[in-house]
Amino acid sequence: MKREVQIVIYSKDSSKLRSGYPLISKESIKNVKDLRDEGEIIKLVDEKKRFIAKGYYGKQNKGYGWVLTQREDEQINQSFFEHKLSVAIKKRLSFYDDPETTAFRVFNGEGDGIGGLTVDYFDGYYVINWYSEGIYSFSSEIIRALEKLTDFKGIYQKKRFATKGKYIEEDDFVTGERGEFPLIVKENGVNFAVYLNEGAMVGVFLDQREVRKKIRDKYAQGRNVLNTFSYTGAFSVFAALGGAEKTTSVDLANRSLNKTIEQFSVNGIDHEAQDIIVMDVFNYFKYAIKKNLKFDMVILDPPSFARSKKHTFSASKDYTNLLKETIEITEDDGIIVASTNCSQFGMAKFKGFIDRAFKDMNGQYQLLEEYALPNDFQTVKEYKEGNYLKVVFIKKISG
Ligand code: SAH
Repeated sequence: MKREVQIVIYSKDSSKLRSGYPLISKESIKNVKDLRDEGEIIKLVDEKKRFIAKGYYGKQNKGYGWVLTQREDEQINQSFFEHKLSVAIKKRLSFYDDPETTAFRVFNGEGDGIGGLTVDYFDGYYVINWYSEGIYSFSSEIIRALEKLTDFKGIYQKKRFATKGKYIEEDDFVTGERGEFPLIVKENGVNFAVYLNEGAMVGVFLDQREVRKKIRDKYAQGRNVLNTFSYTGAFSVFAALGGAEKTTSVDLANRSLNKTIEQFSVNGIDHEAQDIIVMDVFNYFKYAIKKNLKFDMVILDPPSFARSKKHTFSASKDYTNLLKETIEITEDDGIIVASTNCSQFGMAKFKGFIDRAFKDMNGQYQLLEEYALPNDFQTVKEYKEGNYLKVVFIKKISG
């Protein structure tokens, strides 16, 4: 049995939690000292001891836990987890039924009712991400629920709760049969080579599915495409399949070269006809400006925060400058796909960065498309930070 502890929430935060905000922050807890072990059940009450919600104690970034239910009589047990997972799976039935897409998110943390937990599907294999020791303490219940509810080939897990939320390096295999890697999964008919047992990242970020499709189906044809922060080159592959004249992928990580060659190859694209450059994007921009290189389409998908030898990039501070350099190397009538996964600001502010950048460059632009998270990345409206993805397609207009 798990220990249950009563936690008093300061008055200023109790109405927010009562109205459905799922994250329990340290600052809103009056009696932090009563917390003992991650994973214990916490009963949240207000300063007058009136019930607010029940959740679990788990440290994740600045959070100290997540609300699991607003019903005082609901038990957090095997059937609780089975119910949450089963509801989530039912919401993804159209994904399971689509032979053209065999990789998607089955469970998206607080968006599906359990913060700190995500589950992704890769053609019969499941990957569970545990974002705190607290949620990991429920692993046997959650794995049992997944075993009961799905026909899986194998289950893998990523423990993302070492110091500062870092991934714990170990054998990630949990149960079932081990996969053979690369596992080839499909996304809208395109192949991706994924590795479920090679560290924190598997080779593809599933939340950009709709953006990749749009690039392939509507924008890539005949364009000279620059893909920055390209990782395994997923955007480049879609652009090439959409008829791009050429793609150039730039990423700092050494691994990105072989990984990008592999993604092209599993789709029958000659990688030698594409440029794959291992380089700091900020140096590449300088090089491109000096050489007067211009592109008809530039994709920007930087991490929210990154430190390289010479640069520190923070999306909330530096995105405008990144855009300004991009505008300089984009042809008139060219397209900039600006993306960010930074949860610290919303779409309005992001559009503000875009407007500022064009104004500073004396340029004109038109917004063409906007994307947020796809449907398998469920979110709740009470928790805006959970809806982190913002993507805007911008046309640079000849001035
Ligand atoms: N756009 C990718 C995902 C980007 S992940 C996709 O669609 O799959 C972020 C990537 O940025 C990582 O691969 C990391 O190596 C790279 N990166 C971080 N800082 C960088 C920098 N200064 N220059 C180039 N790449 C960088």
